[in-house]
Amino acid sequence: MCYGIGVRDGWEPLLRKLCEDIMALPDLSPEVRFDQIKEKLGRLTVYTNNTDKRANELCVAALKASQSVCEICGTTYDVGLTDTAWKKTLCVDCHFSGRRYRRSWEEDD
Ligand SMILES: [Zn+2]
Repeated sequence: MCYGIGVRDGWEPLLRKLCEDIMALPDLSPEVRFDQIKEKLGRLTVYTNNTDKRANELCVAALKASQSVCEICGTTYDVGLTDTAWKKTLCVDCHFSGRRYRRSWEEDD
């Protein structure tokens, strides 16, 4: 993948399920790969090199699912789109704790 994974840990289960679902598709081309995984407008956005309609539908399903999962902690409780300039899908706790500004390699207090 040329751009890496540009999302936080809370969406890891969504990505794992997406990978499993795509790999389970019958007669899938072995050349399918992810080109970019990122957060865009507060949603999990996955770009692939493939034109397989089924795989693309799974990517869209993951995008829709991400709208109700906190990108940082993964909860589905009290989740919404932030009203900040940079849109993020966060739970209330993560939004107001400022955890959104920390990188995953930094330690929590
Ligand atoms: Zn959260």
